[in-house]
Amino acid sequence: MKKRLLFLLAAMLLCRGLGYGQKLTEKHIREVMQQAYNQFKNSSGGANASYIPYLANIDPELYGIAICTSDGKVLELGDTKYEFGIESISKVFVLALAMQQRGAKAVEDSIGVNATGMPFNSVMAVELNPQRAVNPLVNAGAMATNSFIRAPGSAAKWALIDDMMAKFASRRLSVIQQLYASETATNLHNRAIAWLLYSYGRFYDDISESVDLYTRACSYGSSTRDLAIMAGTLANSGVNPVTKEKVIDAVLCPRILATMITEGLYDDTGAWVYHTGVPAKSGVGGGIIAVVPGKMAIAVFAPPLDKSGNSIKAQKTLQYIIDELKLNLLLPHG
Ligand code: GLU
Repeated sequence: MKKRLLFLLAAMLLCRGLGYGQKLTEKHIREVMQQAYNQFKNSSGGANASYIPYLANIDPELYGIAICTSDGKVLELGDTKYEFGIESISKVFVLALAMQQRGAKAVEDSIGVNATGMPFNSVMAVELNPQRAVNPLVNAGAMATNSFIRAPGSAAKWALIDDMMAKFASRRLSVIQQLYASETATNLHNRAIAWLLYSYGRFYDDISESVDLYTRACSYGSSTRDLAIMAGTLANSGVNPVTKEKVIDAVLCPRILATMITEGLYDDTGAWVYHTGVPAKSGVGGGIIAVVPGKMAIAVFAPPLDKSGNSIKAQKTLQYIIDELKLNLLLPHG
């Protein structure tokens, strides 16, 4: 009788470690990361972003996977220490700063939170939507969000952005100067979008300064490990799981994640959510973050992109891990 009870208890504990809605074990997560790495390490396809010359020259073979659990463990595989252009993933954290400072409602009213369904730098998205900037995670909305942050001048605003990034990452990030110069020399389209928003009364600060701050934030160097911790803070209700410091109010996290669900992978976001059920954000530097609230965040880096500007290998890796660990948020909770 005693033996049977013990057996039952052991079986229950084993199932607890693996079942959906239960605590995942570190061993299982590591195994799945390794399987994904082995499966996709040598997969090819796509090309580095070429419209920003610096990005075109990054080694396309680089590949890193990092997971940050909500209790602060960081699991890493591959080139996770390599620092690459954060690009559009910075938009998530600048949005966090704007929401923390101005409130989620003000961002919704002044920028917009709807999906555009269009490419990341679309002018049509501005023209066709009465809200103009539409979403803080596309270029138009991100530049408007930048202009929406209040500070007594450009240097003071940069200090706010820099501090916020550092709190999310648990270390101070540096701008890759070569990337910043490369983007500044080629960002005419973004400048035109900013002027267009200004013409509609949807830009809230000096245009060239705001575009410059936006460009500089896109030029931060971040490692896959950094991104996992930054996204892990969103998975952990705004508290950095490594430093345990409160970075933003918990109430803002679902709002930020909602913008990732509607616009995180640009015009491919619908298909992404259809297949994974997890909010994510990509950058043309080759990184993607995915956030599973209350559980973990996953960051993957691999430079070659698809036509929408999303890393092909990172998407495959994330999808594999999300499937294997049953992280799809649209699955029944239990
Ligand atoms: N800095 C890039 C741009 O403004 C970011 C684009 C992206 O990562 O999607 O075009």
